Amino acid sequence: MPLLPRRFERLKAVLDRRMGDLTVLLEYVDKPHNLSAILRSCDAVGALEAHAVCLGKRVPTFNDTAQGSQKWVPLHLHPSGPEAVASLRQHGFLIYGTHLGVNAVDYRRCDFTGPTAFVLGAEKWGLGEATAELVDQAIFIPMQGMVQSLNVSVATATLLFEALRQRQAAGMVPQHGEGLDPERYQRLLFEWAYPDVAAWCRREQRPYPPLDHEGAIAENLPRTVRLRT
Ligand code: SAM
Repeated sequence: MPLLPRRFERLKAVLDRRMGDLTVLLEYVDKPHNLSAILRSCDAVGALEAHAVCLGKRVPTFNDTAQGSQKWVPLHLHPSGPEAVASLRQHGFLIYGTHLGVNAVDYRRCDFTGPTAFVLGAEKWGLGEATAELVDQAIFIPMQGMVQSLNVSVATATLLFEALRQRQAAGMVPQHGEGLDPERYQRLLFEWAYPDVAAWCRREQRPYPPLDHEGAIAENLPRTVRLRT
């Protein structure tokens, strides 16, 4: 079925508000329902992508909890927590680790309007020591109950929505695609609109064809490829 203009407008509206400077790093969070819920929260606040370190370096599985958000929020795998932190730092992120070290501060006292990466730990044992030592700031969400910690997906959502709240209050949430570079925007828009054609282009090592203003492919592609649109 051809891409409807209304669907194209919706894809653009979501991409227009994506933030490349807000992300999460998940260290050994491996329960499919937690990973799924976290990606769904990333999609909900407008985080462009997420990062993870996984046991056995396998690609994590998602379940219905994700509601397909894994299609909209790419998850990048890293070999280890310290290497992931180094890579994020190199990309200009301030690294907030969630653990109760002596220097940990209430998350509401932090400014998340700059490039922000939240690091979340495994369901059972929390953040690894080597990674915890490397973060720029340790943070915690104050708790008032009998249980000592939140479910990791709940903690992630709490932090992401605080970052979104702060950015909205500061008028810093992108409205017209300024949250990612224009070349990346166009590439993602094509991949979201035509995932099968995008995969074909990558296999053929050819650039994505241009789209017209209603989202139709403005190039004559082979018939077998056109049938996939
Ligand atoms: N027993 C583990 C520990 O001592 O860290 C509990 C891990 S908790 C279930 C899983 C992850 O959720 C933590 O590593 C942290 O990233 C996040 N988390 C849970 N409660 C939190 C809180 N109150 N503040 C910040 N992060 C929290």
